[in-house]
Amino acid sequence: MKAIISGGGIGGLATAAALGQRGWEVTVFESQPSLRVSGSGIYVHSNGLAVLAGIGALDRATAGAFMGDGVEQRDHLNKVILPPMMPPGVKMVSIPRRELLEGLHEAARNVGVEIVTNCMVVDARADGTFIFANGERAQADLAIGCDGVGSPVRRALNLEEFHQRTAEGALRTIVSATQDEMPEDARGRCIENWSGTRRLLITPINDTEVYLAMTCLSDDVEARDTRIQPCWRETFPAWAWLIDRIGDEVTWNVYSFIRCKQWSAGRTCILGDAAHAQPPNLGQGGGMALQNGMALAAFMADIADRRDVSTALEEWERCVRPLTERCQYWSCLFGEITRIPDDVRPDFIRAAFSNSWVQQSLGEAAQSKPVFRKPLPA
Ligand SMILES: Cc1cc2nc3c(=O)[nH]c(=O)nc-3n(C[C@H](O)[C@H](O)[C@H](O)COP(=O)(O)OP(=O)(O)OC[C@H]3O[C@@H](n4cnc5c(N)ncnc54)[C@H](O)[C@@H]3O)c2cc1C
Repeated sequence: MKAIISGGGIGGLATAAALGQRGWEVTVFESQPSLRVSGSGIYVHSNGLAVLAGIGALDRATAGAFMGDGVEQRDHLNKVILPPMMPPGVKMVSIPRRELLEGLHEAARNVGVEIVTNCMVVDARADGTFIFANGERAQADLAIGCDGVGSPVRRALNLEEFHQRTAEGALRTIVSATQDEMPEDARGRCIENWSGTRRLLITPINDTEVYLAMTCLSDDVEARDTRIQPCWRETFPAWAWLIDRIGDEVTWNVYSFIRCKQWSAGRTCILGDAAHAQPPNLGQGGGMALQNGMALAAFMADIADRRDVSTALEEWERCVRPLTERCQYWSCLFGEITRIPDDVRPDFIRAAFSNSWVQQSLGEAAQSKPVFRKPLPA
């Protein structure tokens, strides 16, 4: 059986590797001249780590990674609101995105996946066809759009129900810093600092590098400037020394929330940000792409006739979509903390996080078990 995939990002490569493991012949078409990451560091939780292990990418992707125990919450005066908290048994690592992509690429290569770069998909059909910018076409038993927030596959199949760009966005970069250089009370920790509508997330990603994410509202013109402005040092004076290390490699992105009428039409489907983008507050957009890619491969594993593909896609969506949507919902809700005034925020965070239902809901995706085998009918 043959699959074609549009997009060689996290979702595309993981799905390709998982299908390749199950005997599918897979080709990935990537629009960029090479497989490249956008963004700096990334959190991967137990659910994503299980998928990486399942496709044989774990060791390469997480070599030298920082193992975290959650994210410490701090207020506008750099005082600890809550220490790091993880649901029992849940792991969290933070790594450079380049390492994650390289690990996925290697896993895909190892099972014979073909990767074609400089190849932009511009249109798609429900019969498993992609149409490329140069007018050529490819058809397969299964076509998968893993082509991100702006997915041409989603557009071509008219799958979108709702796409909202959030008012908040993030500047992201990596700076050189060892844990020995950190203040003693911050060593070996991921820290989320809140101040007004700005936020500074400090995340070690290996022994020598720290991933900085600085979030603010899109209309905070000074703060969102990629030539980092003095306002960040003023807002987070305790971290001015780290902010001073930021170089030119800074990106600004707003977030998307995408909901689709359905995730497939005929033998063509979408997954990852193309189908279910979410704000990054739970660090699960990539996790959901990994998990849903693995599940898709599980639902395709025993298929030997292309006429069975569309039904299997519907079953796959029914199986994985509810968790994905709960994760999207809680990620959006978490983002609302940005709007809470500084003097109320610490009490709000303590009260919310001490509620067991809130804790369970925020951690549900991280502790969920990816689907490696199609469940037997009830
Ligand atoms: C600020 C921020 C922080 C985040 N932090 C985390 C985190 O800590 N943990 C986490 O799990 N997630 C995080 N995410 C979310 C995560 O980055 C995404 O959910 C994830 O990258 C989605 O993977 P994807 O493969 O669906 O899409 P993408 O990673 O966007 O990959 C899409 C690929 O498709 C290619 N492409 C696009 N159009 C075409 C086309 N027409 N033809 C062919 N190829 C095409 C692109 O070049 C790209 O390679 C964060 C997101 C943001 C914005």
